[in-house]
Amino acid sequence: MDCLFCKIIAGEIPSNKLYEDELCCAFYDIDPQADTHFLVVPKTHVASMADVTEAEAAAVAHIFTVIPKLCRDLGLSGYRVISNCGRSAGQTVMHLHFHVLSGPNLGARLV
Ligand code: 5GP
Ligand code: ZN
Repeated sequence: MDCLFCKIIAGEIPSNKLYEDELCCAFYDIDPQADTHFLVVPKTHVASMADVTEAEAAAVAHIFTVIPKLCRDLGLSGYRVISNCGRSAGQTVMHLHFHVLSGPNLGARLV
């Protein structure tokens, strides 16, 4: 499958990896939009939130335990989690991913 994030997960494309376990992988975004900006992805390919079924639900739930753990480990007191779903919402890589952004200037805006 010609998927950028599958290649990153497989180690075929280098990345600045932050965390990895059997279900998910976290790596820093190549084009950070905040002081801290990393992505958390399920290891199993699924295109977006729109394609999540019971088969992926455990990995997605797991990711939502990994994110607070990583943020605690990084000492982040506040952060924002975003998943763009579909091209019209800004999704450019069609492998489900959760952006985690943190920094002093995020403000109160939604995205
Ligand atoms: P999306 O726009 O699909 O929500 O987010 C895709 C994200 O992947 C973008 O923030 C973009 O900067 C990041 N990205 C694109 N290519 C690479 C890459 O090769 N390595 C890493 N680490 N991030 C990438
Ligand atoms: Zn993929």
